[in-house]
Amino acid sequence: MTRAGIVTVAGKPNAGKSTLLNRIIGQKLAIVSPKPQSTRDRIVGIHSAGDVQMIVLDTPGLLNPKYALQRAMRATALEALRDADVIVYVVDATESSVEPLHVAAAISSPPKAPVITALNKADLLSAAQRNALAASTPEAQFISAATGAGVPELIALAARHLPESPFLYPEDEISTQTLRFFAGELVRETALEQLGDEVPYSVACEIDEFREDRKPVYIRAVLHVERDSQKRILIGAKGQRIKSIGQVAREKIEALLEQSVYLDLWVKVLPNWRKNANALARFGYHVQEERQG
Ligand code: GDP
Ligand code: MG
Repeated sequence: MTRAGIVTVAGKPNAGKSTLLNRIIGQKLAIVSPKPQSTRDRIVGIHSAGDVQMIVLDTPGLLNPKYALQRAMRATALEALRDADVIVYVVDATESSVEPLHVAAAISSPPKAPVITALNKADLLSAAQRNALAASTPEAQFISAATGAGVPELIALAARHLPESPFLYPEDEISTQTLRFFAGELVRETALEQLGDEVPYSVACEIDEFREDRKPVYIRAVLHVERDSQKRILIGAKGQRIKSIGQVAREKIEALLEQSVYLDLWVKVLPNWRKNANALARFGYHVQEERQG
């Protein structure tokens, strides 16, 4: 009998959720960034091994929502918690205390699905720190999403909580997201990397055209920012910065598609897009009000 179900990876921004997702799937699906809030939506990865298939959901940070964007991200994360057969709660073990998931996420009661606590970044812990944590949270699993240490054990633990079921997706599929979606994420990731802290969180990427029938593949992408000043920063002196973002992003997309790509990259100002429900929906964020339960 096979098992299949949903494993939701939850935790605070920067805990290492996306790194863990990529490690489990064995390929880069989610944006990994030292900046919090860089995961846009729930990214669905699929891991099939032996007689177990895991549908892995990455969640945007569970944070105090200020903008419509953050409300949409939090609502998405809560939805992923509700849908889970098992939750992997990723904690940055180098932080001083380990709060229970429902406290960290400010939800009124613990989620229904069983929660496995993964103490991540174990590679950064001293032996003394590790011993102290092992004593205070004996049921938690030490992992390093970065090196992979402890991850097979974590996968085995999570698999035990999945229901008996036939596989839900073909065995060789690693994601339910489209290449078009990932191309947009790669452009956005590259912009975030090259901008440092100058235009935090205000960049969205929209793929206007994705023509796989052309050689090279033609992709027209628009980076949307909220203000003229941000547009100037993104473009840079004599267009140097946008040129460099385009070049690096194109190389990443070529590696993903295994084909040459022509990336037609534009920058537009869409005032206050993060507060605008229509714009959020257009950029692929799920816009819905937060529900509890
Ligand atoms: P998310 O916001 O929870 O999705 O976190 P990310 O996966 O984007 O990771 C946040 C930062 O922590 C990145 O700079 C990662 O490279 C780093 N990171 C993640 N896992 C580990 C780990 O196991 N060890 C170390 N040393 N760094 C990690
Ligand atoms: Mg992330």
